[in-house]
Amino acid sequence: MGFKSDIEIAQEAKPQDIREVAKKLGLTEEDLDLYGKYKAKVDYNLLKKDNGGKKSKVILTTAINPTPAGEGKTTTTIGVADGLAKLGKNVLVALREPSLGPVFGIKGGAAGGGYAQVVPMEDINLHFTGDFHAIGAANNLLAAMLDNHIHQGNELQIDSRRITWRRCVDMNDRQLRNIVDGLGSRADGVAREDGFDITVASEVMAAFCLADDIVDLKARLGRIIVGYNFSGDPVTAAQLKANGAMAALLKDALKPNLVQTLEGTPAFVHGGPFANIAHGCNSVIATRMAMHFADYVVTEGGFGADLGAEKFLDIKCRMANIKPAAVIIVATVRALKYNGGVAKDQLNNENLEALEAGLPNLLKHVENITQVYKLPAVVAINEFPTDTKAEVELVRQKCQELGVNVALSQVWAKGGEGGTELAREVLRLIDEEENNFEFCYEDDLTIEEKINAIATKIYGADGVVFTPAAKKELANLEALGFGNMPICMAKTQYSLTDDLTKLGRPTGFNITVRQLTVSAGAGFIVALTGEIMKMPGLPKVPAAERIDVDENGVIAGLF
Ligand code: ADP
Ligand code: MG
Repeated sequence: MGFKSDIEIAQEAKPQDIREVAKKLGLTEEDLDLYGKYKAKVDYNLLKKDNGGKKSKVILTTAINPTPAGEGKTTTTIGVADGLAKLGKNVLVALREPSLGPVFGIKGGAAGGGYAQVVPMEDINLHFTGDFHAIGAANNLLAAMLDNHIHQGNELQIDSRRITWRRCVDMNDRQLRNIVDGLGSRADGVAREDGFDITVASEVMAAFCLADDIVDLKARLGRIIVGYNFSGDPVTAAQLKANGAMAALLKDALKPNLVQTLEGTPAFVHGGPFANIAHGCNSVIATRMAMHFADYVVTEGGFGADLGAEKFLDIKCRMANIKPAAVIIVATVRALKYNGGVAKDQLNNENLEALEAGLPNLLKHVENITQVYKLPAVVAINEFPTDTKAEVELVRQKCQELGVNVALSQVWAKGGEGGTELAREVLRLIDEEENNFEFCYEDDLTIEEKINAIATKIYGADGVVFTPAAKKELANLEALGFGNMPICMAKTQYSLTDDLTKLGRPTGFNITVRQLTVSAGAGFIVALTGEIMKMPGLPKVPAAERIDVDENGVIAGLF
């Protein structure tokens, strides 16, 4: 079976001039900063313009606990938007920007797949409009000013052994994870242990994505804690007088990037925070802007629903005051079989028993959305070429038996046409089903109570165990006045528990919180449940080895 690769499909497409795409939103060339023919940045000041009181519907795409290959949330987000467009709806996609780390590593790009992609996918996957480099520069300016402050006499009495701010680069480069810098003579700085994170893991990225506007961004950047002084008090970016210049570096980056799907549906692709130590969805500004212009906005939360949807709902919707209209939970036959105990290399073989055994995982996520968050939900079966008819039918039938809304999605193979069944079901949910959106926890609970609420309600845990280090930090963070921030859980994406080998719907377990940190600029407390890698490495055979460019500048092998 010869399937065209994502990049082949994308390169055959005839994209519209971005000015034409912008017209669909009522935008003129005046409103755009053009980046060539197919990309434009849109000024966030347009948010202040009257939009005739439009009440936009936000649709979140999330997924069951995935296999390492990803289950097609981005693909489904794009495809269902094209499906809604096919039904005559005024719709916008809002997605994260891909990071170069995964593009050159294992996962590949993040611009959708098959006939449900955003284009120009080569640009979107490689540098795009330079936002991530700007974020890296802002992050590293702060690092430079911090070390310079110490070198120049250390007026703030920063304890160089308690510096928490790290440098960053948008690359998977394990060599930079732990370094010693400032070596050399007296004039070369103060030697200390240091390290790099990947740019998407920088708190600047998280703050950028949660900011209301440039002024709010500047304030958030000022609240970033870079380390502690000799008395143990936090030292912030504002104390180093760095936040003004950091925000200045980000003034253009903060404008959402407008591109289009293969079918010409407008899409904002903007911001891309990690989904573990950060909240894993595109910028608030892009979502707001999409809501400003379109009747329907389809957006994605990273990882499975236990992380991605939970954070989208409890962090982003809370901070940005967004009430979602409906949730799509993507399920694949392969992820269901994986959750049902099938080994990774056997997932392409029909196995109805394993499929059924994996269903409780999906059902738990459905329950969370409908019973904890009280939002209408539909399961989208993202059909793969390797799925058998019997497998797809079994999922559909089981969902129907249990009263779970379900629709088949064939957007990867057919684009918007393959997304109309799902699009119709989403419209039905919005029109007919009850929506009594609630958070999983209120922010006036203690940090401990909030983490408990997430663990018991969303993961299905019996409770939470805090290590002594985490207990100490719990008290410290409450004392410093960070107690009413929402929680950002850093947990494996593969399991509802903190153990990636426990698949399906585990019961009778506790979640162990090993460490707590505050991202004061982003505005949340990070609870770490295991080793979380903030600087990934490349695999033995990096995807980069297959990527090439010819004499005409045409890129190959991105997938
Ligand atoms: P996620 O956003 O959940 O991580 P993506 O949408 O990025 O997932 O999809 C992950 C990979 O799987 C992509 O390479 C995409 O092309 C591929 N993919 C997604 N859906 C399908 C499908 N139905 N059939 C075949 N491949 C698919
Ligand atoms: Mg994705």
